[in-house]
Amino acid sequence: LEDELKDKTFAHFQFAKPIQFGLANAGFVRPSPIQWRALPVAQTGLDMIVQAKSGTGKTLVYVLAALHRLDVTKKAVQTLVLAPTREIAVQGARVALEVGSGMPGLKAQAFIGGTPLADDVAKVKSCHVAVGSPGRIKQLLMERALKPDAIKLFVLDEADRLMDGDFLSDVRWIAHRLPERKQVMALSATYPDDLAQIASTLMHQPNHVRLGQDDQVLHGVAQFVRPVRAHPQVQRQVAFKLKALLDLLASVSFNQCLVFSNYSVRAQAMCEKALAQGWPAVFISASQDQSERLQAISCLKQFQCRILFSTDLTARGIDAQNVDLVINVDVPWDASTYLHRIGRAGRFGSRGLTVTLAAEGDEYDNLRKIVFHTKAQIVILANVKDLPENFDLWTC
Ligand code: ADP
Ligand code: MG
Repeated sequence: LEDELKDKTFAHFQFAKPIQFGLANAGFVRPSPIQWRALPVAQTGLDMIVQAKSGTGKTLVYVLAALHRLDVTKKAVQTLVLAPTREIAVQGARVALEVGSGMPGLKAQAFIGGTPLADDVAKVKSCHVAVGSPGRIKQLLMERALKPDAIKLFVLDEADRLMDGDFLSDVRWIAHRLPERKQVMALSATYPDDLAQIASTLMHQPNHVRLGQDDQVLHGVAQFVRPVRAHPQVQRQVAFKLKALLDLLASVSFNQCLVFSNYSVRAQAMCEKALAQGWPAVFISASQDQSERLQAISCLKQFQCRILFSTDLTARGIDAQNVDLVINVDVPWDASTYLHRIGRAGRFGSRGLTVTLAAEGDEYDNLRKIVFHTKAQIVILANVKDLPENFDLWTC
């Protein structure tokens, strides 16, 4: 687990040597979150919609996909990128050349209008990666200067803007002239309804890769797993977990803490034990009525208690800004629940710490699956005393 995810470098993707060289040469070492998510899908050649805020590194996603599939010895446009503005097109071509610096003979070029068409007609013939405005690319196709037959990857950069009225008819016109068998990739900072609708007419069952709230929240949250000895008897198992929980509470310095269990009864029982040890704790449950629940939450918000014990049923509404520790006493059933729970620590970009208690065996394996799914970085905690004093060090 730890070895699998500790070093998220580009080496993980096993690109061909020249690409790895080009990445290093251009100074790219660690993939950004959207790159980490999107590149495995991009490598499979499936159609995809990549959505993440601007500045998150979407250019490299399509550039790497382009270079990955490129045959430099073949003098033909193999990747066609549409971009809404001159600057974005120029930048795309520049990044392709930078990251392609280990591929001798690579030609990547922007075609953006405002220059004599004849110049572009000459250049496009020997180009591998063409990045252009819809208008100029359409002209080049009409002139039959740009031959579409070898195009394997069709990219819509800033797709939300390309779907605007002004560009849309050219985009469609171009898309119709490209080979049927190709990968289509749309990258966008936003995801408006018409993008999904139009994209679906240009793609085959697109894969969606997006960075949601949870992913962003993950940044400030250091994640640990504490393996707990397994016991076939439920009560003994719970006792082991309770001990691990109380050890944790005693050794971590935190403002406020949420404790999640998969079982309401267990959450309540553990809350009582914590209370008995002198922790100001409350329990919230779906079986309580609305006013009891609100009271439990306001107790946390008013700092009248420091620990809230909960199940997932009640987790959604909790948004307490001083919570900086989340403990899962059970591994949640699925990845989205895991992300949701740990997202409670580190709201609004503050730092947080999460520890998941996992019984060795099946439960630990479930966590392993979640980690694989979410690409989370979890550090295995052999001893609760091993928690870092200053956990900034551990955030990714
Ligand atoms: P987007 O298209 O999502 O708006 P860009 O692809 O333009 O974002 O990237 C924004 C900036 O981040 C660029 O300056 C780029 O060089 C840089 N960048 C992208 N990926 C990485 C990375 N993996 N490591 C370091 N810097 C990166
Ligand atoms: Mg961009």
